[in-house]
Amino acid sequence: MKPKAADSILRIAPYEPGKPIEELAREYGIQSAIKLASNENPLGPSPGAVAAVQESLGRLHRYPDGAAHDLSRRLADHLGVMPENIVLGNGSDELLGMLARVFLQPGDQAVLPRPSFLMYEITVKSAGAEPIFAPLRQADMGLDLKAMKAAIGEKTRMVFLCNPNNPTGTIISRGEFADFMADLPSDILIIADEAYMEFVREPDCFCGLNHLDARPPVVTLRTFSKAYGLAGLRIGYGVMDAEIAGLLHRIRPPFNASIPAQAGALAALDDRAFLQKTLSTVHQGIDFLRAELAAMGLTAFPTQSNFFLVDLGCSAQAVFEKLLEHGVIVRSMRSYGYPQYIRVNAGLPEENQRFLDALKQVLGG
Ligand SMILES: *Cc1c(COP(=O)(O)O)cnc(C)c1O
Repeated sequence: MKPKAADSILRIAPYEPGKPIEELAREYGIQSAIKLASNENPLGPSPGAVAAVQESLGRLHRYPDGAAHDLSRRLADHLGVMPENIVLGNGSDELLGMLARVFLQPGDQAVLPRPSFLMYEITVKSAGAEPIFAPLRQADMGLDLKAMKAAIGEKTRMVFLCNPNNPTGTIISRGEFADFMADLPSDILIIADEAYMEFVREPDCFCGLNHLDARPPVVTLRTFSKAYGLAGLRIGYGVMDAEIAGLLHRIRPPFNASIPAQAGALAALDDRAFLQKTLSTVHQGIDFLRAELAAMGLTAFPTQSNFFLVDLGCSAQAVFEKLLEHGVIVRSMRSYGYPQYIRVNAGLPEENQRFLDALKQVLGG
């Protein structure tokens, strides 16, 4: 006899993360691999954050401030909200889990775009609830808010909006969001996952922070993992109605944001120069890569984020594996339902060039 896992858990397909550089070194003996697979910051972490994390290490014998007094206030200032509207998480992933535990029960449904961030499905299923998938628009791979709205029913408790959408890089316009919100039931929760909002160049992009008082309520999720270069530190946050925040605090592990994470995030917000450099590096990288790929005759889709999809016209999994031999890690979109697409994020100029050179060799040979 073995202990039996919950059926809801057995229905979850494990999350496939981007391949770590160290794994490539172990498996292929390649020491100088580059990774353009997890939408990380090519410049590294914010130097201001690194200094603050180092400075914080002498306090590691203490428990963190469970209320994150300083960081909540600094974030509230930064975003134009109240500290009571903010809940910190061990990455924004943890916020997804908290929201599911508070608002989803077995038998409930949540409406999800597909393809989108795979953690939504895992989170919904882990609460024993049922994901209802709304396919993306075929024309531009954007979220189909009309289809998502049509999928909302009696049992719907939650709707996930990924803006910009991972992996397609598309955004929701303000008008689309306004149409979507009209006449929705007020007892559901709208989750606006804005992990990549800092990279958006389109001024007409919907932003959840402008809808803090909306009915139904909108919970906005943000992270320090991408634009601030702190994915390894694990710190993200949600911005929401204070009453909803209070519910999340009931189940939030009291010390979920570590001392280094709080210190690093606080300093990262002040490191304006790093954010500016990140945005210019990423935007130049995206424009360069898309132009070069188009010149190779490939379709590189438009994006508002730090990554984009490429249609290779052949098996993306095979190309992904051959690129690994060249020490280049990208993401195959097979498990997202796009067997001919890869997802690539902007790297440093030399990394971008190395990816293009490797891709030319792989496709040519
Ligand atoms: C990277 C990412 C996150 C952020 O995850 P963290 O847990 O904050 O590192 C959230 N949502 C999407 C869509 C992402 O791609």
